[in-house]
Amino acid sequence: MNHIKDNLAQVELQIKQACDQAEREPNTVQLLAVSKTKPAEQVEQAYHAGQRAFGENYLQEAVEKIQQLTQLDDLIWHFIGPIQSNKTRQIAQHFDWVQSVDRAKIITRLNEQRAEHNNPLNICLQVNISGEASKSGIQVNELAELAKLVNSLPHLTLRGLMAIPEKGNAEHSFQQMQQLFQQLKTQYSSVDTLSMGMSSDLTQAIQNGSTMVRIGTAIFGARQ
Ligand SMILES: *Cc1c(COP(=O)(O)O)cnc(C)c1O
Repeated sequence: MNHIKDNLAQVELQIKQACDQAEREPNTVQLLAVSKTKPAEQVEQAYHAGQRAFGENYLQEAVEKIQQLTQLDDLIWHFIGPIQSNKTRQIAQHFDWVQSVDRAKIITRLNEQRAEHNNPLNICLQVNISGEASKSGIQVNELAELAKLVNSLPHLTLRGLMAIPEKGNAEHSFQQMQQLFQQLKTQYSSVDTLSMGMSSDLTQAIQNGSTMVRIGTAIFGARQ
């Protein structure tokens, strides 16, 4: 039942082919393995196949896994799920990146709760680019102010933007995200990450300038 290593190789090939098509260097796109709902053993298998960056959506599940895997000391953990403000302390404590940041209160709490001895927490602002009421993320007109806030805080580093475009209607959203990202990059030298593209649309995302694809199903199989 273990095809994780093969699946990873397949996804990496897909990334490479998408980069070739888009005339981009393959090393301009990072792979985030989304391990939500999957056990620590599967993260470990992916680790032994060379994967280092993992994304998690559910805090309690994630913290248990992180604690089970402390012996793998070069894992990089990204929080990518909706954030409740009473959970920011644990997020600031256990993660290297937070990609689902969507309001000022969360930003100031993460900054206050990030320990002095840790590196600054890497932050992506999540943009609700398709304007879906059910999705988290900021509106485009909030971006300038929130980016400025993240950039002003000592325990945070503004790395870029994340989006989950609406299925079936993603092309326009991907294009808009690319424009927002290019603009943000000219304003902040720390910005280098456009996180978009999942198992079903990674090629299209890379075509539109994604620098980080977040892949769960294609690596670990379907979730329940
Ligand atoms: C679950 C999830 C993914 C991975 O989705 P797949 O379709 O399984 O590749 C990526 N990003 C976010 C924010 C997710 O919640």
